[in-house]
Amino acid sequence: MSRDARIVVLGHVDHGKSTLIGRLLHDTGALPPARIEEIVASSRRRGLATEWSFALDALQDERDQAVTIDTTRVWFRLGGRRYVIIDAPGHEEFLANAMTGASDADAAVLVVDAERGVEDQTRRHIYLLSLLDVAHVIVAVNKIDAVSEIRSGRGRERFAAVAGAARAALEAVGVSAHAIVPVSARDGDNVASRSPRTPWYDGPPLTELLASAAPRRESAAHEPLRIRVQDVYRRGDERVAAGTVRSGRIRIGDELRISPSGKTARVAALRAWPRDAASAGPGEAVGVVFDAPVYVDRGDLLAHEASPPPVVRSLHVRACWFDRDPPHVGETLRLRAGTADVSARVTDVLGATDPRTLEAPEHGAATRGMVYALALQTTVPVALDEDERCAIARRGVPVAAAHALTLHPLGANLFAVSHLVNATARAARNGHAGLVLWLTGLPAAGKTTIAMRVERELFQRGYQVYALDGDAMRTGLSNDLDFSAEGRSENIRRVAEVAKLLADAGTITLISLVSPAAADRARARGIVGAAFHEVYVDASLATCEGSLQARARRRDPGLHRNRRALRRSGRAGSGAEHRAQPRRPHRRRCGRVRGAGGAAARGAGVGRRFVLTDSGGAIF
Ligand code: GDP
Repeated sequence: MSRDARIVVLGHVDHGKSTLIGRLLHDTGALPPARIEEIVASSRRRGLATEWSFALDALQDERDQAVTIDTTRVWFRLGGRRYVIIDAPGHEEFLANAMTGASDADAAVLVVDAERGVEDQTRRHIYLLSLLDVAHVIVAVNKIDAVSEIRSGRGRERFAAVAGAARAALEAVGVSAHAIVPVSARDGDNVASRSPRTPWYDGPPLTELLASAAPRRESAAHEPLRIRVQDVYRRGDERVAAGTVRSGRIRIGDELRISPSGKTARVAALRAWPRDAASAGPGEAVGVVFDAPVYVDRGDLLAHEASPPPVVRSLHVRACWFDRDPPHVGETLRLRAGTADVSARVTDVLGATDPRTLEAPEHGAATRGMVYALALQTTVPVALDEDERCAIARRGVPVAAAHALTLHPLGANLFAVSHLVNATARAARNGHAGLVLWLTGLPAAGKTTIAMRVERELFQRGYQVYALDGDAMRTGLSNDLDFSAEGRSENIRRVAEVAKLLADAGTITLISLVSPAAADRARARGIVGAAFHEVYVDASLATCEGSLQARARRRDPGLHRNRRALRRSGRAGSGAEHRAQPRRPHRRRCGRVRGAGGAAARGAGVGRRFVLTDSGGAIF
């Protein structure tokens, strides 16, 4: 059975929205006979022709009593597919739907009265439509029966005039109408079958138009591949990037690009339940296993190498605002696109529109429900498609639903330059290849001391070597970063990028950096590649505490001796990092070095073994 198609019906009050929904339910056989009898009888009691809008009265009663409405109750069947009508009675509800993604409609039907034409509320609904992401918009020019001389040229003229106005209003906000159909919701003309009363209309009836509006997932299959990584987990030796295919199709053997990092790898396997898959399409959840050890993280976007998404740090969004406090220039918000979640600074508020008036909001007007155009600058690069839907959060609370509008991709004008000196030539000149020894471990474990001594020792022996203290980066290249988890992680990424360049230049690069998160170290490994060697500098917590206290006393003899104060005083070594000791260093590839407390230890990576003694001497 195919998936339900979701339809949103909207239009100016009294243009016949409810009647059209009731008529659709009736003409597609969704109403039980008893319900039809009830509708006919109650219409007659009121001296009316059958009022199909009464079909929705039960729902209206529930709404009046503020009982939660299960919108999936309003549905009908066409062919083998179920069509669910998403009810969006007012503009607040509409925006709320947009926020929660409930507006992910496959099609929208905009009802416009043939006599009254496009009115203010119609325009507002059209504007709201432009904020949603509806694939097919159908305009139903209703009450065509009421147009005098419907059969004649006047009927056709009236239809053409209203259709033209609706099309223009839609196009003004960037929405194109898939089809425009003259209907009579009351009498059923062109709803489920072609009407002989409109000989001048040669298109299909409304139900056919709805049936031909390919549900989003089917049309999404023809779009470029996009999988937002939900989680990365280990299965034995295997790293699996799990996510749901948003669009396109993924197959074993495909060359994928992981954005924003830009790394590429082939799909070696597709883990799925209950059995592995050879390919997967929209809506399907898969676990991607790559043929090479590339770094993938939650929030990354997987795409085919040939059609990657833009990677941006600067973008404009259109945001429906739900908070009382409007967006402010300079404030930092969170921008969330699926599982991607980055901090973004508002660099400009480009404009604001009140969807009720389609004008700029009056001074002092409530900000809830306003639509803002914002210029944002993200702290780290993010992979986003144009028009992608995002949420904006402030202090952890969602405050707006947004569309990515203008993207300013990174590196659009960058071209990698091919060196005329290669790595082999550099290694031949230096007598060794470049590499990165990544010393990780608790603050004050002795990483920098070891790095500096190894640097001196190697230098004296004629090696090209450089020791880079990761925290020292904070005073220069990373001085724009804060000490939040994100800021630390970004600092580690930058250190890794610098280390990679130094190693490429043929240098033995010693990095000393707390880097407690395994994910950050895995990313560093991904950036540097095969030249990366992780060394865990092992020293007990007590030893490190002692060293930190001594260091603090040296810097500020009057400093309070309690642990928490000390932890707070530690530079990068805050309490969080103390606790976040890397419990499982990468044992296979890394050496283990005993630091602060002394004693000898071994490491690997310069092509031969080395031993560090507690006096700091290195023997190769
Ligand atoms: P809504 O506010 O858009 O849901 O409008 P309703 O469906 O309640 O209809 C408003 C009025 O228009 C009612 O009195 C209906 O009987 C009438 N109406 C709806 N559809 C038609 C139609 O196709 N032809 C005519 N003549 N009247 C209609």
